[in-house]
Amino acid sequence: MAYTYDDQNIFAKILRGEIPCTKVFESEHTLAFNDISEQAPHHVLVIPKGPYVCYDHFASSASDAEIIDYTRAIGSICKQLGIEPGQAGDGYRLIANSGADAVQEVMHLHVHILAGRPLGRMLASG
Ligand code: 5GP
Repeated sequence: MAYTYDDQNIFAKILRGEIPCTKVFESEHTLAFNDISEQAPHHVLVIPKGPYVCYDHFASSASDAEIIDYTRAIGSICKQLGIEPGQAGDGYRLIANSGADAVQEVMHLHVHILAGRPLGRMLASG
């Protein structure tokens, strides 16, 4: 599947500094900031700096350096937030909505990190 990246999406504007965000973490290829409409005490959006629409686009098209940086960034953010279950944190959920069935609203890859309260089962039925 070929993807067309629209650089007018809201996260592209955040990356260019055209609209503000509350930054949580930044590295060479990755930016993380708080979701504007938080669904949990910790609700962080992690985005690659490159122009990737969704997770499979990134996984198939990004460089090894970008993928390593992004994956390591998620680990660093979990550590920063103190939510790692292996380090006495209470855990977290990662969500990467991709495409129409997942109701992806912003067409720039983002992983949600949700934590800080019991999150219930993975999906509501139906
Ligand atoms: P999606 O449904 O695409 O997975 O999630 C998009 C997320 O982006 C939503 O949780 C929404 O609250 C968040 N969001 C939308 N616009 C902004 C914004 O301007 N700033 C921030 N920080 N988050 C946003």
